[in-house]
Amino acid sequence: MYIVTDGIVLKRVKVSDYDKILTIFTRKAGKVSAAVKGSQNPKSKLASGAHPFVYGEFSISKSGRLSSVTSIDVKNAFYHLREDLDKLTIASYFLELAHIVTVENIINNSLFDLLLVFLQVLEGSNDLKVQHLIKIAFELKLLDVIGLRPELNSCVNCGKETDDPKFTVEEGGVICKECYHLYPDNYRIGHVIPKLMKFILASDLERILETDIDPVLVKKIDFILNEFLLYHLERKGFRTLKHFNEITSHS
Ligand SMILES: [Zn+2]
Repeated sequence: MYIVTDGIVLKRVKVSDYDKILTIFTRKAGKVSAAVKGSQNPKSKLASGAHPFVYGEFSISKSGRLSSVTSIDVKNAFYHLREDLDKLTIASYFLELAHIVTVENIINNSLFDLLLVFLQVLEGSNDLKVQHLIKIAFELKLLDVIGLRPELNSCVNCGKETDDPKFTVEEGGVICKECYHLYPDNYRIGHVIPKLMKFILASDLERILETDIDPVLVKKIDFILNEFLLYHLERKGFRTLKHFNEITSHS
């Protein structure tokens, strides 16, 4: 089998000085693991493309169980994501999330497009508050794309609409006053946060970034989404986020 496809490198594992295994999220074959031979040889044309974040056209050949990358035509290496540690951390977290929610050889081009657009916008952003907003927008839209969109309209238990909702991570949405007691591990969110989350889900990133959104609300949403993602993706933590959580909890 031989495919030529657009892809984004999610992960790189070094096998030896010259050989690496890339995990590439591709348009035509979903997530693919493929070896890159001789990529540390400076003369290798593959060397410049065999890095996380690289978006390009990958030629991948598969014989038996092992796939290998035979060429990479780099379209965007996202060098500017490395300009500051916060930006790099959030971008790395996007790759980690994409890696977690994708399955080998299953195509998900909605998620591919989402990841590509968010990396592009994040690359051009130099304000931590804006980057924080980009982060929660990615989390929400990713949840939507993988079928885990939080229920923000009516109580997840009884279906009633409520103007004083709390949020239950376990059931994945808002609960009304009458049902608070059924979910003791809930978060008070008020009526603005669900509206804001719905606005983010319904709007493209450009519109979201044009809107003046209170950073305090962004932080609250970030906290809830972090709990939500950990619970529903069955993780204890996100490897890439350690630094980010430390700095944002003090800012
Ligand atoms: Zn209820």
